[in-house]
Amino acid sequence: MSGREGAGRAVVIVGGAGGIGRGVVSRFVDDGDRIVVIDRAPLPADLAADVVTEISCDVSDAPSFVAAISRAADTLGGLDVLVNCAGILRITPVADTSLDEWDLVQAVNARAAFVAIREAGRNMLAAGRGGSIVSIASMAAKAGAFEEVSYAASKAAVVATTRVAALEWGRSGIRVNAVCPGYIPTEMGADTRTAADIARWESDTALGRLGTPQDVADVISFLCSPAAAYMTGQALNVTGGMVMY
Ligand code: NDP
Repeated sequence: MSGREGAGRAVVIVGGAGGIGRGVVSRFVDDGDRIVVIDRAPLPADLAADVVTEISCDVSDAPSFVAAISRAADTLGGLDVLVNCAGILRITPVADTSLDEWDLVQAVNARAAFVAIREAGRNMLAAGRGGSIVSIASMAAKAGAFEEVSYAASKAAVVATTRVAALEWGRSGIRVNAVCPGYIPTEMGADTRTAADIARWESDTALGRLGTPQDVADVISFLCSPAAAYMTGQALNVTGGMVMY
């Protein structure tokens, strides 16, 4: 059981205005849920019309982010599902990575995911009706990624946080999972992505193509559904077979 299953669940999507996030919002709209999006960027008008409200927030500012999650839960009259999609990428060799860059990436990717999981969990525990939490980690958490040390470490932290929360809250009916996407061409990394990169990444997948936001959104929707009632603490690959462990 994941909170109130079926249409009309109270869903908070953090980072819902991003490339994958917009796919997640669309998918939960199709699932019939009531959605609040927290992001620093606005939703496009067509999607904005389908959500209850948007809250503008920098998730690396923890007090503001805690207040935003509380406001979202109040607006929805509770919280059945939290999805964490916000994130940033910095591409720098290990030897050149500054502490400022490291701290920024941890604050947005690792600490904000922790804050969101903690706040959603507190809310769900108090309500006593279970719930489902899914965070977007990355295959980088498992396989590493060239010149992405701050990013890979932040995503490993997301996976570890997911597992600990899953252990602590399982008996309260709260399932906590992560997804580990492979390459999904979005705004993230677009400034450095070349045609040669895309060709190489495609050939490194078993399925012979890069992923789409919809591919990731479908797995997140599944993890939040009754079909995944016996799954918690997982870091599920959505990589087209590029990573298989
Ligand atoms: P995008 O850059 O398209 O979207 C990220 C969203 O998060 C944007 O709306 C962005 O706003 C928002 N955001 C970033 N920093 C903050 C902040 N401090 N406060 C509030 N919002 C913020 O990336 P994707 O959609 O591709 O990525 C979504 C998630 O999936 C991320 O966690 C990413 O690490 C992960 N992922 C992505 C992969 C990919 O190949 N695309 C692969 C594996 C994992 P703004 O536009 O203003 O920056």
